[in-house]
Amino acid sequence: MILIDGKKTADEIKKEIAEAVKLIVSTGKRPPHLAAVLIGHDGGSETYVAFKIKDCEEVGFRSTLIRFEDDVTEPELIAKVHELNNDDDLDGFIVQLPLPKHISEQKVIEAIDARKDVDGFHPENVGRLVLGLPAFLSATPFGIVELLKRYQIPTSGKNCVIVGRSNIVGRPLSILMSQKAVNATVTVAHSQTKNLKQVCAEADILIAALGSPEFIKADMVKEGAVVIDVGTTRVNAPDTKSGWRLKGDVKFDEVAPKCSYITPVPGGVGPMTRVSLLQNTLLAASRNI
Ligand code: NAP
Repeated sequence: MILIDGKKTADEIKKEIAEAVKLIVSTGKRPPHLAAVLIGHDGGSETYVAFKIKDCEEVGFRSTLIRFEDDVTEPELIAKVHELNNDDDLDGFIVQLPLPKHISEQKVIEAIDARKDVDGFHPENVGRLVLGLPAFLSATPFGIVELLKRYQIPTSGKNCVIVGRSNIVGRPLSILMSQKAVNATVTVAHSQTKNLKQVCAEADILIAALGSPEFIKADMVKEGAVVIDVGTTRVNAPDTKSGWRLKGDVKFDEVAPKCSYITPVPGGVGPMTRVSLLQNTLLAASRNI
């Protein structure tokens, strides 16, 4: 069994990005610039945005944090999105989700200029992904495919089962995995899938993205399978300083001995998601600068 080290791989990619930034700056141009819009004070969102800002600093990007309180109105937020769309000093930006209930996430996403949509959530980028055209790819699927590529894990003709069909993970990942560059035969499973255990047990590559801690047990996994665990659920852990720890969707201890490759949680898909946002921002900058 080979443990896929997402942290190490993400660090390697960060070094490559930092080199690319040095090259851009050496030609007299400004470094790539990412902005994050954060609404309210949700603990998870605060942490994710803080990581994004820190990642930018590490590779030499400029970053800007724009904050609103929870009571910001939809028109106010959309006005800010339009302002950022028209800011030539900015290559890309994200609006951290989830948004307060009185604001339509879809309306806000659709207001973002697709050329600055480094989260890859805009319908134009999703459509371009479906058509196999250059697009900003949603960060988690992008990171997973990059991880498979960098570990030289064969994917062509392999039976890939993805559990979960969300717009940010399962669905775009299923499209990427079936593209000609990857060539997997893809099954997308969800909460209405019948005989899920058997479906999973036929996978050469099993990707769990359902958000249910330790849902995938050893009897759902084929001997020698590649298992990618996307799940990150905070579970109570009174023995830790924070009082919680992250659990994946895979029962790691019993599944790992059956696998050819497996990602841990934490330290697997998470760091790759973070670095994919940097890759998208670099791409946006190379188009803009
Ligand atoms: P989501 O929007 O809640 O979608 C969950 C998907 O799983 C849905 O399609 C749902 O099916 C399916 N599902 C739920 N329970 C199931 C079951 N018992 N059997 C089969 N399918 C089931 O979640 P998400 O945003 O995709 O995130 C999934 C997990 O990945 C979460 O733990 C999240 O925190 C984590 N995540 C991690 C990263 C990272 O960087 N590591 C990034 C993004 C998300 P239906 O469609 O039928 O409801």
